[in-house]
Amino acid sequence: PSPTAPLRARAEIDLAALRANVRTLRALAPGAALMAVVKSDAYGHGAVRCARAALDAGATWLGTATPEEALALRAAGLPGRIMCWLWTPGGPWQEAIEADLDVSVSGMWALREVTRAARAAGVPARVQLKADTGLGRSGCQPGEDWAELVGAALAAEAEGLVRITGLWSHFACADEPGHPSIAAQLDLFREMLAYAQARGVRPEVRHIANSPATLTVPESHFDLVRTGIAVYGISPSPELGTPADLGLRPVMTLSASVALVKRVPAGHGVSYGHHYVTPGETTLGLVPVGYADGIPRHASGSGPVLVDGKWRTAAGRIAMDQFVVDLGGDEPEPGSRAVLFGPGDHGEPTAEDWAQAAGTIAYEIVTRIGTRVPRVYV
Ligand code: PLP
Repeated sequence: PSPTAPLRARAEIDLAALRANVRTLRALAPGAALMAVVKSDAYGHGAVRCARAALDAGATWLGTATPEEALALRAAGLPGRIMCWLWTPGGPWQEAIEADLDVSVSGMWALREVTRAARAAGVPARVQLKADTGLGRSGCQPGEDWAELVGAALAAEAEGLVRITGLWSHFACADEPGHPSIAAQLDLFREMLAYAQARGVRPEVRHIANSPATLTVPESHFDLVRTGIAVYGISPSPELGTPADLGLRPVMTLSASVALVKRVPAGHGVSYGHHYVTPGETTLGLVPVGYADGIPRHASGSGPVLVDGKWRTAAGRIAMDQFVVDLGGDEPEPGSRAVLFGPGDHGEPTAEDWAQAAGTIAYEIVTRIGTRVPRVYV
């Protein structure tokens, strides 16, 4: 759809802003390659279009969680290195190997299954061994487990079944500047790298940095940085500052067409449960998006919207497909737009404002915008 089409709702995606963010991040990590993390449909922004734009701006890797996401990028014709890291038993590992994806391996189950798939494919699997340096999620434990995994991967490499292309890890608290776990994870990562390299692993890339680490922990950059949220112009956490403070430009603007304006008397209960009652005679405006579109119901009574130049808040419950704002007597013209969030430079709220209203993080706000909302690329 065109950016001016009178859509119920639209998420405008500013690809020039995305490209600018990639260039900004590359300049911050000049010695490292950049992986654009485009999992979950590029955090709700549209994986294929965003992946192409990121590669145009100098990213040389793409990252996804699932192999299905990575295979979809290949099927759309995206070239170069694509890594996926969410290993589950019975996944499409042979297809992943045949599509030249890099696959993360955190333990012996995964290594055995990927090795079997490589035998069937007749080509070596590109494998990146993941170390749990303190996130306590996926990744191989240090010590005996790491020794066993490294040894088995080297043996599979000697048989021509795998190529160990990477050694990598992920931070737990990089969005909390100065958190002691950052230095502890870096120390353990260096130790686990040194062990694997001493045994003979020759990785192309060693990496641990996500967006907050790329922005604030230069010693974490190694050979590659894996940036997601910052590519979309969103600050990883209010503690790190606003996107503007970080030199980033928000990519998504979410708006909806005001669908109805009506005058109501004082004492009018609004939406399910009547959690808002009009304090005086006023006008109500209907915003035709709801939690089915990913608008968080937890922001009922607090989610901000810009209508005709003024901030309004979701009055009463946010429903599945619609919510109401109290326009305080204003009567916008048909076709007026309610802007839920955007860069903020035209007075509109930001994704961070919605995160605060809903008690969550801005990552969740953009990622959950549903498929019923068309993405319009500008
Ligand atoms: N690396 C891994 C393994 C991830 O799961 C993610 C996303 O959560 C990222 C990198 C990117 O993180 P961020 O969006 O904070 O840059």
